[in-house]
Amino acid sequence: MKVPFNKPFFAGNELTYISRAVKSGKISGDGVFTKKCHTYFEKHYGFKKVLLTPSCTAALEMAAILIEAREGDEVIMPSYTFVSTANAFVLRGAKIVFCDSNQVHPNIDASKIESLITPNTKAIVVVHYAGMACDMAAVMALANKFKLFVIEDAAQAINGFYKDKPLGSFGHLAAFSFHETKNINAGEGGMLVINDEQFIERSEVIREKGTNRSRFFRGEISQYQWVDIGSSYLPSDITAAYLFAQLEKLQKIQAKRLIIWNRYYEAFLKLEKLQMVKLPVIPNDSTNNAHIFYLVCVSREERNALITYLKSRGVLAVFHYLCLHQSPYFNDQNGLAFPNAEKYSERLVRLPLFYELKSSEQACVIEAVLEFYKSK
Ligand SMILES: *Cc1c(COP(=O)(O)O)cnc(C)c1O
Repeated sequence: MKVPFNKPFFAGNELTYISRAVKSGKISGDGVFTKKCHTYFEKHYGFKKVLLTPSCTAALEMAAILIEAREGDEVIMPSYTFVSTANAFVLRGAKIVFCDSNQVHPNIDASKIESLITPNTKAIVVVHYAGMACDMAAVMALANKFKLFVIEDAAQAINGFYKDKPLGSFGHLAAFSFHETKNINAGEGGMLVINDEQFIERSEVIREKGTNRSRFFRGEISQYQWVDIGSSYLPSDITAAYLFAQLEKLQKIQAKRLIIWNRYYEAFLKLEKLQMVKLPVIPNDSTNNAHIFYLVCVSREERNALITYLKSRGVLAVFHYLCLHQSPYFNDQNGLAFPNAEKYSERLVRLPLFYELKSSEQACVIEAVLEFYKSK
């Protein structure tokens, strides 16, 4: 049996909606389906304002422009994250200050943030790894105390909650991803959430190439002009049509993913009891949106051997981020060491988890993992 790592979800109505978008005669940005998606998110999660973007990367870039990150500014973020979290701020000339992960979870260790804050710190970027919440109470308290912006990289965090409030609603700004590897997808796609009202008007301008075109289309002004810097940060309505078909099935997707996640968890409890692996720990006050199921192995060698063994059994399991502080581009000259982030880089492995994963396929993954550990 061959079990892929991921298979993008297909809701069924995508092509119908795309065809409707095409027939409407307007397939550029902010068409009918973009508005439907915006309404969905504002209604279901109470986000003050959302804007679909071509990717989470684009939404993060908009966030960096909105907070006016520039040379001389420092931005604190976890080292254990995707490159886009950092790139967005590097593009503005800001300096990245990396922080370690928690010992029991890949999320940023909030207790280590304060010691990294300097007079130049402008923002804290948190990443809700595996859709599980960072310690937002601690992060927001620091942000208030030191007057910093908070940006949530909520790429993986759709339908995740912290203390019953949706992830993406805590920071001044938040960015979601609808890349095909995420719980709901549009192939490529993303969204900026604007929780701080001061950014709402400018976010529309930046997204429309630095023009006030959005206000013009609402009839608020008689012509649109170049008023600020900006870029093209709006997706075509074809993307939005695809996404909307997925949004209609969101609860169904989530329920199924959670069943799969829980089955893995229960199957591997015995390995954890024998101290052969560590299972994911859901942080305090966080829900689990079942974006990723991972195991943390005892060593890099054993993790790599497990991946190789699973591959020999037809199962594709994959590791995740390489620490950004150890990347060639960052080119650290200060001997930075983040033991927890490095542990997750070296020892974490993700197992197949997608809507269409069949019960028999999951059984095959579980059996292969247990088989591997039998020989230990
Ligand atoms: C997927 C992901 C991104 C990038 O999302 P795109 O939509 O592909 O730009 C950024 N950050 C994190 C944490 C991600 O998981």
